[in-house]
Amino acid sequence: MGEPSVAKDASARRPGAATAGPLVLVVEDEPAMQRLLGAVLDDNGFRTVQATTGAEAVKLASACNPDIVLLDLGLPDFDGTEVTRRLRQWYAAPILVISARGQEDDKIHALDVGANDYVTKPFSAGELLARLRVWLRQAALSTDEGGSNFIDVGDLRIDLARRLVFVGQREVHLTPTEYKLFAMLMRNAGRVITHRQLLEEAWGPPYANETQYLRVYMAHLRQKLEKDSAHPQYLLSEPGIGYRLRAP
Ligand code: CA
Repeated sequence: MGEPSVAKDASARRPGAATAGPLVLVVEDEPAMQRLLGAVLDDNGFRTVQATTGAEAVKLASACNPDIVLLDLGLPDFDGTEVTRRLRQWYAAPILVISARGQEDDKIHALDVGANDYVTKPFSAGELLARLRVWLRQAALSTDEGGSNFIDVGDLRIDLARRLVFVGQREVHLTPTEYKLFAMLMRNAGRVITHRQLLEEAWGPPYANETQYLRVYMAHLRQKLEKDSAHPQYLLSEPGIGYRLRAP
């Protein structure tokens, strides 16, 4: 465990390039993967800071306040879930987890404690870059929207002040529990919300494992909100993990 590696500022090596691409904190302990991620991000106008342990990740995040964190789950000191838990005490920007096959539980725990999304190894550079851009855009939007009472996603709208829901111009009546679930998904549009998070929100912690409740209520929500509830456009299942409201 040496010093955290030096920030690779793409713009510093290319004087003509825009001065400040988004800053990505890459937390990855495998040297080959680290080099690959650094190269891909540099080439695409991102600035990177690299950490190879959980402790470095936490330290660098507070020193650099990155725009997004790309976080491998398996780290030598403590795991990515613990890094997420510590960061979420103060860090609001997106955390994108990198998981390997066989790390399903760890991935779900990381989402439970506040990671936004995940990519599974092996992934392509294109897939990773697309995901980073989505999350950076979302983060910019949610900063702009601060304080607004409305959230719009496609033709879905929620009025948080008056607790009303619309599909296009049509008002849709939701039960209080349906509303809680829908509001949580809308507030986190694009993000995977785990079964546990949804169950605790709607019914409280004692119900954290009652996933069959969710199946029933999500089916109701789809009937009320989707054009074709058998082929949902918005309320997507992430099998074994949770649900995601698709961002447009
Ligand atoms: Ca690893």
